[in-house]
Amino acid sequence: MRKRLILVSACLVGVNCKYNGGNNLKKKIRELVKAGKAIPVCPEQLGGLPTPREPAYLTGDGYYVLKRKAKVLTKSGKDVTLNFLRGAKEVLKLAKLLKIKLAILKARSPSCGLGETYIRGEVSKGDGVTAALLKRNGIIIYTEENFQEFIKQKKKKS
Ligand code: SF4
Repeated sequence: MRKRLILVSACLVGVNCKYNGGNNLKKKIRELVKAGKAIPVCPEQLGGLPTPREPAYLTGDGYYVLKRKAKVLTKSGKDVTLNFLRGAKEVLKLAKLLKIKLAILKARSPSCGLGETYIRGEVSKGDGVTAALLKRNGIIIYTEENFQEFIKQKKKKS
């Protein structure tokens, strides 16, 4: 049976989709894409935002953004909530289409962050908007900082 694909933040595999036009390359994660095991996505680009773009932060946890009880604002105060929501939904659509159950996302990003993200300009407890939506839909998430745990667990099982 064909193995399930892993969803990964595109900036982690060297795609220059980061707000400043750069990336957050992690070679081990790029190897997963090279081996045909993972697919890269950038929710902020899928949400229609340009690159480079102004950095953004949440006014509350990603779950509150999903419920429209918090917003996503750029540094200069522009409301980009709808872009973040659109991007998260497009990523979920892709995940469902490909029956993806696992993601490795960029830590602390207002879209991709898991457990910690930028809330009101500071790193705080909470998930990014896309991470929150994926989690809500049963997708297991790791970040580039802890995905080695997943690799170790997999090795133990096999
Ligand atoms: Fe990387 Fe996610 Fe930010 Fe896109 S939205 S640049 S994939 S952290």
